[in-house]
Amino acid sequence: MNNDTYTCFTELKKNETEGSFNITCEIENRSNVYAIIAPHGGKLETGTTEISLAISREDLSLYIFNANKPNHNRTLHITSANFDEPQCEKMLVNVETVLAIHGARDPKVEPKERVWVGGNLRETFEIHLNETLKTLGLLIEINSNFLGKEPNNICNRGISQQGMQLELTKSLRDRLKMDKELLEQFSDAVRTAMMLTYPTA
Ligand SMILES: [Zn+2]
Repeated sequence: MNNDTYTCFTELKKNETEGSFNITCEIENRSNVYAIIAPHGGKLETGTTEISLAISREDLSLYIFNANKPNHNRTLHITSANFDEPQCEKMLVNVETVLAIHGARDPKVEPKERVWVGGNLRETFEIHLNETLKTLGLLIEINSNFLGKEPNNICNRGISQQGMQLELTKSLRDRLKMDKELLEQFSDAVRTAMMLTYPTA
């Protein structure tokens, strides 16, 4: 499913005008265990920027690639396995594990709001998400299209090479963007599940 315009960041930068994207990168005085990464934020996978900010709060390492062209933002999509923006690469060698936040299209069948769990820690992460997100009644599952198991997937490129990713459907992202209270409950639950999945020594 990779029909990206560019195969790497150098190519993207060479061809896109200044200001077509911006980067948020918070490492200083932040956790060197956990990083939250949104490689397709802003106008690409809408809502993933806001959700990543909510999960990271002020204490986890945070990286967001924000697409903000007036249109045709899709050209700014570099798939997880190829994503090699230099500030992100620098963050990856400084954190033990990564939770990457992505946005997927809604499924054709109900419920439209779904959480698809990936990364090579997906099985454990799914178990913990089912505990912590239970009260929100969201459908949490592993989707064979979004396993995120390749070693070069951005979420598996922290020091431990063990990572997690979430693909959140459009309807769910839209609701999280509108409902601040839900966003807080959701991000708390995800954070807790992530920490249970990859506990600090
Ligand atoms: Zn994505």
